[in-house]
Order: sequence, then structure tokens, then C-alpha cells
Amino acid sequence: MQASRLRRKMQAGRLHHKGSLMPKFVDLSHPLAHGQPNFPFDPKISVLVHNTVASIGFNITQISLSTHQGTHLDVPFHFYDDGKTLDQVPLERFYGPAVLIDLAPGGYLPAKTPITMERFAPHAAKFQPGAKVIYRTGWDRMFGTPASFSELPSLTLEAAQWIADRRIGLLGMDTLTPSADWKDVHLTLLKPGVEIIIVEGLANLDRLPERFTFAGFPLNVQGRDGSPIRAVGIVED
Ligand SMILES: [Zn+2]
Repeated sequence: MQASRLRRKMQAGRLHHKGSLMPKFVDLSHPLAHGQPNFPFDPKISVLVHNTVASIGFNITQISLSTHQGTHLDVPFHFYDDGKTLDQVPLERFYGPAVLIDLAPGGYLPAKTPITMERFAPHAAKFQPGAKVIYRTGWDRMFGTPASFSELPSLTLEAAQWIADRRIGLLGMDTLTPSADWKDVHLTLLKPGVEIIIVEGLANLDRLPERFTFAGFPLNVQGRDGSPIRAVGIVED
């Protein structure tokens, strides 16, 4: 390694004392906040101060939220009563090598853009069985706006079926749902035998290279359908 490059890394705080490089962590999650908007059918988020240092000697907070609030993931039970629940999915499904498909490099897709099979076809080699595939539309910047719920770029049912047929392990995106046609697309991706983990509402995908390690573990809510996650992109130097 050149001395100047080494010095830059040391200044960036990315070098262990033993000389091995620290990976860079990219936060792929939106912050959770009291009153944050979500879909009309979902319970609303509240983040309430329960007690404070002044009142009892420590700060403690009561949170109440949907299992699909903000940056979160879906498991098959979300749409199938006999589908796998959070506690039945191996942890390996939430962590590992991932690939980014940027559908709008440097910008964002126009409102209501259909995300068709043709858009993924040039990237077909990335859709290997078990793969973790994340696509970027640029719509994380619209997070929480009315348009983010009603005018989002949407996976077509045909594209969802094409992805399901490839038996990837995880599909992530920076919109709050893969599609305005949410019901049929979820049924296709979460179907018994397909069971793709869907990660919704990712942020900051423009800070990732094409290959990185994805980490996004759900809370172990027994017997349930989804969970907010702290999604992180781990980037090796
Ligand atoms: Zn969801």
C-alpha cells in the first residue's frame, strides 16, 4: 500500500491497531420517529417519553408501532397464514453478500414508473438462487411523503414472477412496498416454495458499491409477520 493511501485510511479511522482494515458501515435505515406517516391500514407509530432522569433517575421510552414501520422486512406469514414467521427463518437469510441494481444512477425514477422484467434482464446473472438482491429507485428521498405511498415506482406482477422463478433469497428496495399492486406482488414473492424475504424502505443505497454485505436482522417477534430492522451495508475496502 502506498504511504499516502495508508495515511488517508488512518486519518479516516478505518485502520485497526493491528493493521487490518475496518469495513465501512453504511446506514441503510430511515430513523423511526413519533407520528411518522405510514400506510392507511397500518397502526400508527408512537414514541412516548415514559420516564426521565428528572422523574425516576433514568430515561425510558414507550414505543408502539407496526411491524412494517419504516425500514423493515416481511416474512411469508405476512401474506400466508401457514407461512414462515420471523422466529422460523434462519438468521443467515438476513445477512450476507448482496448485489445492488441501480435503476436510476445519480437520480430517481419518475413517479409510477413500472419496473418491468426488461429492466432486470441485463442483470439476470445477479439473480442466482439464494442471492440477496437490492434495487435502487432513488425514492428514499420521498420517504413519508404522500407520493411515497401512492406514486411509487412499482414492480410489475410479471417482473415479480420473473424474480420469484429465480428463487433468490432476499429482495430489497428503497420504496415502502415493492409495488402499488402490493397484494399480488407480495403473494408472488412470499409464496410457499418461493419465500423471498422482502426488505422495504431502505435508504442511502446511492452510497453503496455494486457488491457489499447486507445486514438487517429483525426483532424476534414470536409467531409474527415482519419487523423494523437496522439495515446496514458493510463495504470492504
Ligand atoms: Zn412490509
